[in-house]
Amino acid sequence: MSAIEAIKGTRDILPDEIGYWQWLEQVARSVLGRAAYCEIRTPIFEQTDLFARGIGEATDVVGKEMYTFMDKGERSVTLRPEGTAGVVRAYIENGLHVKGSLQRLWYLGPMFRYENVQAGRQRQFHQLGCEVLGSADPRADVEVIAIAIDILTALGLTGLRLDLNSVGTPRDRQRYRAALVDYLTPYQEKLDPDSQVRLTRNPMRILDSKHPETQKIVQDAPKIWDHLDPESQQRFEQVQQQLTDLGIDFHLNPCLVRGLDYYTHTAFEIVAETGLGAQNAVGGGGRYDGLVAELGGSETSAVGWAMGLERLLLLLQQAAAAPVTQLDFYVVSRGTHAEPQSLRLAQSLRHAGFSVELDLSASAFGKQFKRADRSGAAACLILGDDEAAQSTVQLKWLGSGEQESMPQSQLIEQATSLKAKIQSLTQRE
Ligand code: AMP
Repeated sequence: MSAIEAIKGTRDILPDEIGYWQWLEQVARSVLGRAAYCEIRTPIFEQTDLFARGIGEATDVVGKEMYTFMDKGERSVTLRPEGTAGVVRAYIENGLHVKGSLQRLWYLGPMFRYENVQAGRQRQFHQLGCEVLGSADPRADVEVIAIAIDILTALGLTGLRLDLNSVGTPRDRQRYRAALVDYLTPYQEKLDPDSQVRLTRNPMRILDSKHPETQKIVQDAPKIWDHLDPESQQRFEQVQQQLTDLGIDFHLNPCLVRGLDYYTHTAFEIVAETGLGAQNAVGGGGRYDGLVAELGGSETSAVGWAMGLERLLLLLQQAAAAPVTQLDFYVVSRGTHAEPQSLRLAQSLRHAGFSVELDLSASAFGKQFKRADRSGAAACLILGDDEAAQSTVQLKWLGSGEQESMPQSQLIEQATSLKAKIQSLTQRE
C-alpha cells in the first residue's frame, strides 16, 4: 500500500526545527507581555461571511484563496485565511469593549490560503499578530510598529526595512482615486491585464502591482500624500515623528496600499532586503478604523499587524543555529536490577527539577555511552547491578570525563549545587 502524504502546501515542523519555533514564540510572548498585550485564541474556522465582509469580496484572499466548504448542517464555513477578522468577531461577540476601553490583543496560529505553493508561500502557514482595539491615538500605531521591531530585534534579525504610508480616510481616498484614474487612463493599454481591470474596480491596488511595466508607469503617479486633508496629514506626520523619537528607521513608500474602505491612515510593511527571494514581506499591518463597525460592532478605532512565521524562520535559520534545550543527565543502565531502578532514578531526578533522558535500549554499555555523548547532556549517570545493589550511581561529567561514585540520594540532596555546577559548565562551553 502506498504511504499517505501531507497535503500540498502544508509542512510538518520536525524536532530539529522546533527549537526555532519555540524560541520565536517565547520572544514574542515576552515582548508582547511587557507591553501589556494579552493572548487571544479564536477558532480556526468561522462562518464564510465573516471573511467575505471582514476582508472583502474583491480581494484575492476572499475571491480566490479561501478554503470554504459546506459542513454537515449545510452551513458555509471557511478555514481562517488571516487572524484579524476572527479577533474582531470575538471582540464584538464577547463584549470585550465594555470590559475595558481599550483591548491590546495578540494571537499566533495557523492560517489557510489556497495559493500557488512556492518558497515562502504555503497553503497552511502561521501568523503572529497583534491588535489594539479602541484607540485612535497615533501612539497606538507607533506602539504596534515598535513591538514588531522589538520582536525582530530580539531575534537578532537584521537587513529588514520598514515601509510606511498613509492611506488617509475614505474621503481622502475618494479624492485621490479620481486623480490617480486621470493619470493612469492614458496608459490603460500599457498596464498589465490585472491592472486594467483594477482601473475601474480598485485603482489604488495598481500601485502595488509587481508587473515591471506597470511599476514604471506608477512611479510618476500622483501621491496620496498630496491628497490628504490637513488632519490626516498631521496624523501621518505625528506617526513619523514618534517613530523617529523611538529611533525606528522607516522608508516612506507611497505605493504601499491596503485596498479596502475600512483601512485608514497608517499602512506599513516589513520586508527582508535579502534572504527571502520574491516573497520578501515578513509582515504588514495598519489602521482599520472601519472594520469593527463593518462587522456589526460600534464605531471602534483599531490598528494591528500580522507576521508570517515561516518567513521569519527562514531568516532565523540563515542567521543562527537552532537553539537546543540543554539536557542535564543521560541515564544508562544494564542488568535486571539496574534497569527498573534507572526508571525510578530518572523520575526522581525530574521531580527534583533536572532534565533527564533515560536510555531504554538495554544494549551494551558501550553503545549507550556513545548515545550519551551525542545527547548533549552535561553528565551521564551509570547504573549497573552492582550500583543498584548498593543504591549508588556513577556520575560521569561528559565534558571532562571526570567520574565519581555516589549514593543516588546524594544527587537529590545536593540538587542545588549540582544544578549550579551544570549551569557553570554549560555557560562556559
Ligand atoms: P497578509 O495578511 O497577506 O498581509 O500577510 C501577512 C504576512 O503573512 C505576510 O507578510 C507573510 O509573511 C505571511 N504570509 C501571507 N501569506 C502567506 C503564505 N501563503 N505562506 C506563508 N506566509 C504567508
